[in-house]
Amino acid sequence: MIKKIESYPELADPQLQPRYSGIPTFFRLPHTELLDEVDIGLVGVPFDGGVTNRSGARHGPRDIRNQSSLIRKINQATGVAPFELVRVADLGDAWIERPFELQGALAEIAAFFATVHAVGVTPLSVGGDHSISLPILRTIATDGLLGMVHVDAHCDTGDDYLGSRFHHGASFRRAVEEGLIDPKRVVQIGIRGSLSELGMWQFSYDSGMRVVSIEEFHDKGWRWAAEEARKVIGSGSAYLSFDVDSLDPVYAPGTGTPEPGGLTTLEAQRLIRDLGGLDFVGADLVEVSPPFDTGGITSMTVATILFELLCVLAKARVQREPMSRG
Ligand code: MN
Ligand code: MN
Repeated sequence: MIKKIESYPELADPQLQPRYSGIPTFFRLPHTELLDEVDIGLVGVPFDGGVTNRSGARHGPRDIRNQSSLIRKINQATGVAPFELVRVADLGDAWIERPFELQGALAEIAAFFATVHAVGVTPLSVGGDHSISLPILRTIATDGLLGMVHVDAHCDTGDDYLGSRFHHGASFRRAVEEGLIDPKRVVQIGIRGSLSELGMWQFSYDSGMRVVSIEEFHDKGWRWAAEEARKVIGSGSAYLSFDVDSLDPVYAPGTGTPEPGGLTTLEAQRLIRDLGGLDFVGADLVEVSPPFDTGGITSMTVATILFELLCVLAKARVQREPMSRG
């Protein structure tokens, strides 16, 4: 006999089934491809053809779906209840038909997000390596240049590497070159680690991005960093990109390019919460590599961060379109 939920009011309540049962979706949300019923769509991007070191991020979305079953409905710290504010659903994966051809894969990702963007759905993407941010920005930066809050151990503004213009360490240089983001409205937080050369991230500085090293963050704190981000972003639209390697490997070992000496989970949570009110039109969370994870801790931590991202996206959505729930 097939077991069915007898009443499933609408795409808002992920709480009606035991969290450990059923086919996993992000936050136990309903899976749908009916985009007109959705305000914020979670999308998995299982692709890691752009990594320069350890792979495995292609397995991130599935693992994070599983671990996110623990996340509940209300943000205890802020009182935000995203599933009440807006219609949220799991749109499935932007999976790649030809994963061995990098530029073709990026084009496939862009095509998926173009469909999502065309009907006004706010994307919250789960990678995948950081190369996936570029095709997403290509599709959503349609109304002018976006600002960006970028939390990462790395600036990802490198140039060609081993003969390729596209890889996870160059996404935001390309995004500036392609006229998608305004470097003067970009803040990069958590930057650290050894360098191949002193000018490895020179593009960030030369283009006018605000680079907040982990040392500056550590000295001044998350509250200051959020305030600094607000100053840089201003009132215009912005994107939020969170690379899990911004966190210390103690909290998130399951990633391809770990850099010890990073943010704590709580610092990242409080930083994101304090960004609430900025006009975010999309966000992603990338670089989770389950094969390097231990006991699911990285995916669990990331599910928690993902919920914080969802809360600020929901807030922004309601600010932009107070009647979107109509
Ligand atoms: Mn990155
Ligand atoms: Mn990184």
